[in-house]
Amino acid sequence: MKYDFLIVGAGLYGAVFARLATDAGKKCLVIEKRNHPGGNIYCENIDGINVHKYGAHIFHTSNEEVWEFVNRYVRFNRYTNCPVAKAPDGKMYNLPFNMNTFCKLWGVETPVEAEAKLEEQRREAKEKMAADGVAEPRNLEEQALTLIGRDVYELLIKHYTEKQWGRPCTELPAYIIRRLPVRLVFDNNYFNDLYQGIPEGGYNKLIDALLEGVEVRLDTDYLADRANFDSLAEHIIYTGPIDEYFDFKLGNLQWRTVRFETEKLENPNYQGNAVINYTAGDVPYTRIIEHKHFEMFGQAVYDNPLTVISREYSTEWTPGMEPYYPVNDSRNNELIEKYRELAEELKPRVFFGGRLGTYTYLDMDKVIAKVLADFKEIMA
Ligand code: FAD
Ligand code: UDP
Repeated sequence: MKYDFLIVGAGLYGAVFARLATDAGKKCLVIEKRNHPGGNIYCENIDGINVHKYGAHIFHTSNEEVWEFVNRYVRFNRYTNCPVAKAPDGKMYNLPFNMNTFCKLWGVETPVEAEAKLEEQRREAKEKMAADGVAEPRNLEEQALTLIGRDVYELLIKHYTEKQWGRPCTELPAYIIRRLPVRLVFDNNYFNDLYQGIPEGGYNKLIDALLEGVEVRLDTDYLADRANFDSLAEHIIYTGPIDEYFDFKLGNLQWRTVRFETEKLENPNYQGNAVINYTAGDVPYTRIIEHKHFEMFGQAVYDNPLTVISREYSTEWTPGMEPYYPVNDSRNNELIEKYRELAEELKPRVFFGGRLGTYTYLDMDKVIAKVLADFKEIMA
């Protein structure tokens, strides 16, 4: 056979796999159905601004091996994600919920004062649940109220979450909000991870470095010519949608998607931050991304007289749309288990990887960690 590995998909999973295999002396062919490599981390350059075409991406990790790996290919800038929320009361609040938020909301100045206020609000929620005979939060609303109380819930959580998930908080699982950070410090850094940043020059630099010296064919759909591609390589690494690989024979897996409305403006600084969340119910979008702030700081923001913004509308997915977030309800969880069983049977000839191939929400660092582990398994 001509190749050791046929890699379907030039996203982060496919590109990292191709790099590892090539460096190990294996011959790889990467095929990608889009007209560009990079999958969802791909950026489109508009007037000198790297626009995150498939949604804002911030690299963050505490995994030393992954951090060391990506730093072999690119340097990372000092971007730290500090989103701000425009709330239904018309005020702007810092996220994640921290002393800046509580100070603006309640006028409290110290962690002790903030904690007392939070406790008062939590107690109210717990008493209400007890009166209803409920021991554990049954849904996202009850979970949020017992974690942070009614004021923050109504201003910053309820409507945003309902827009994002397309259903009432009382019908959403509690676990979505369980990881919500509440911090009694004046620190607006959204992530807890040790390392964070955006590749200098954008994500395409990372992808290009990973794919250097690797044969890549764009505009090439594996499923349109499967038998031919299968005949080319000993192993197939498939990072497309797993249900599509099996011709949807057990049914469609469902996703949530996001619609982006991107606009170029003649204004060097539209909103003063990369991410502003809109937490009111009567604003149809969930957030506005101003892309230049991921890579331009200080005077550099003004050196480019233009800006590019994207409004994000969270949308129910129908076949043909970009699949973004897996819907982990019981129907889909059961279905993916069945598809995983089918996939297991195809090992070691075919290996399923990445977010579409495994139907899992994975941050970029988790994808890289997974490739490092999968590659070891395949080569063992
Ligand atoms: P993909 O990037 O989807 O790549 C798969 C590739 O396979 C695609 O290019 C696709 O075109 C191709 N393909 C599919 N089928 C075929 C076929 N039949 N033939 C040929 N090619 C095919 N992670 C973070 O760490 N930080 C963030 O801030 C962050 N923000 C995100 C925001 C959004 C809206 C979303 C959806 C995800 C975000 N992520 C973030 C996660 C990140 O996007 C993923 O970790 C990463 O893109 C996964 O890479 P992948 O290679 O698995 O998938
Ligand atoms: N969330 C919220 N208000 C905000 C931001 C987040 O209520 O301003 C909630 C919302 O329920 C969301 C969850 O926190 O689903 C996780 O948000 P995050 O931004 O971490 O997730 P992402 O949008 O990146 O998937």
